[in-house]
Amino acid sequence: MTTIHIAASREYDVVIEPGLLTRLGTMAAELGLGRRAAVISDDAVFALYGAAAEKALTDAGFQVDHFLFPHGEQQKNLSTYGQVLNFLCDRRFTRSDFLVALGGGVVGDLAGFAAATYQRGVPYIQVPTTLLSMVDSSVGGKTAVDLEHGKNQAGCFYQPSLVLCDPSLLNTLPEREYRAGCAEIIKYAMLYSEDFLRELEETPVLEQFERVISVCVGMKRDVVRGDEFDKGQRALLNLGHTVGHAVESCSGFTLLHGEGVAIGMAIITRAAVEKGLCTPETLPRLLAALERYGLPTETDYPLTDILAAAEADKKRTDDVTKFIVPERVGHCRVEPVPADEVAGWLKAGGL
Ligand code: NAD
Ligand code: MG
Repeated sequence: MTTIHIAASREYDVVIEPGLLTRLGTMAAELGLGRRAAVISDDAVFALYGAAAEKALTDAGFQVDHFLFPHGEQQKNLSTYGQVLNFLCDRRFTRSDFLVALGGGVVGDLAGFAAATYQRGVPYIQVPTTLLSMVDSSVGGKTAVDLEHGKNQAGCFYQPSLVLCDPSLLNTLPEREYRAGCAEIIKYAMLYSEDFLRELEETPVLEQFERVISVCVGMKRDVVRGDEFDKGQRALLNLGHTVGHAVESCSGFTLLHGEGVAIGMAIITRAAVEKGLCTPETLPRLLAALERYGLPTETDYPLTDILAAAEADKKRTDDVTKFIVPERVGHCRVEPVPADEVAGWLKAGGL
């Protein structure tokens, strides 16, 4: 078992090992959490793993309820969030009880936000079930729901009490979701480690889940330790995300987040090379890695549509867009780009 300790405003462990779901109850008991657990999940994940999660909890002496909602990003909204809170009230959950977020990033973000706000905060455990949520969204305490005006527009920082990562749950993950998770993994390599990119080139992620998840969580731990509340270096994790979000939004969210990020990383790296900010050999390395994992690197959406969608992105402060720009594999920096230069950047990126 790999244990990674996260030193944030609440300290907690991320534990990683195949088969760990059966130990959910004993680990919750070790944390000294209250007697009742509410499992929050989506219909698809709960059908696969709900019974095992609940058995692990009841075997350890917990009383368990569950709240389910239909899978998909469209459900990560105020209405579902309100339903979770009302469910907790109906069942008379108190602040000494806890939530278990069993699912991908949608479940984790929504259940985390409910945990943060129900009676001003109850503990919660993240049990991520997608590759993306294991390497990224379950760690670091960003919780949110989407508003009609955009993704993650309502939310807060609220750290879990434990992240229980069981890579054997990934056996049922659809291929496309697996690939989307690999985009975020390639992102970590581009940000922090050329050696890690080489590992990903040599050995497929699915042959080394525990190792890859551990490396990524270790990188995220360092970022969160230095900048939990996203005032500085945590912004680097947005590599490929400004353009990625815009492309996702242009597609009406038929593109997965990781697919948008793959396209976004390719475009920003091409632009950085064009502008002389990035070593030329970085681009073919990135493109080869993305293609190896079957990820897209180009888009047909017109520049004007992507610009309009990027304008709406919340990471824009005043008249500056903060692009995360690779300088070489393993090193990136924040580049504030004035509004009137963004189009030029995207053109340089091949749009
Ligand atoms: P998701 O939660 O929608 O899961 C993707 C699909 O896979 C769903 O249909 C789900 O039912 C299904 N699924 C999940 N686990 C499965 C399994 N083991 N077997 C079979 N099917 C399974 O999507 P995601 O990619 O995990 O998360 C995306 C969300 O995460 C977005 O809302 C994004 O904003 C958020 N996010 C948050 C952070 C953060 O720091 N909080 C970081 C990155 C992304
Ligand atoms: Mg992301």
